[in-house]
Amino acid sequence: MSYVSSYTLEELIDDVRRRAAGESLTCPGCGWTDPADRPRRMYDAYAEKGPNGGIGYGYRLCKVCGFAQDADGGESYRVWLSTHECVPRGLAVDRGEVSCRHCRKTLQIVDGVAAPHRCGKYLRQGDSGYCCVTCGEWQGPASARPLHGDRRREVRREESSAA
Ligand SMILES: [Zn+2]
Ligand SMILES: [Zn+2]
Ligand SMILES: [Zn+2]
Repeated sequence: MSYVSSYTLEELIDDVRRRAAGESLTCPGCGWTDPADRPRRMYDAYAEKGPNGGIGYGYRLCKVCGFAQDADGGESYRVWLSTHECVPRGLAVDRGEVSCRHCRKTLQIVDGVAAPHRCGKYLRQGDSGYCCVTCGEWQGPASARPLHGDRRREVRREESSAA
């Protein structure tokens, strides 16, 4: 994966503007570009509002190769994917909907219980895991799943060994 020395807030704002105009962005790590008609993005720039209403900070992340970079002028880094079957606990309401703080899925609550869902998070290489606040369970190295690009490489390997 190629290494990128810096990504600034100005570049992030420009990426967000291009995305709003319907353009697809290209991952500097692996060259992946999402087809324009694909609703689910594998590579994107994510912006958060600052205190004055405009874009305050953000990052870019590629779910294909694990390239990530914060828009603070710093260097790129790698992420790994942690996923688990999440059984929500400690729900504040008895009935209705809550959105999972990690994966943002909408969870339906019936009689104080929400059905388990597939939950996940991209973590920095070097981070050993995180505590999922939705289920309260520690998700360590055993929760690691291959990235999208690794899965595609595995399929290609299987195809070539079968030939
Ligand atoms: Zn990539
Ligand atoms: Zn969980
Ligand atoms: Zn979740």
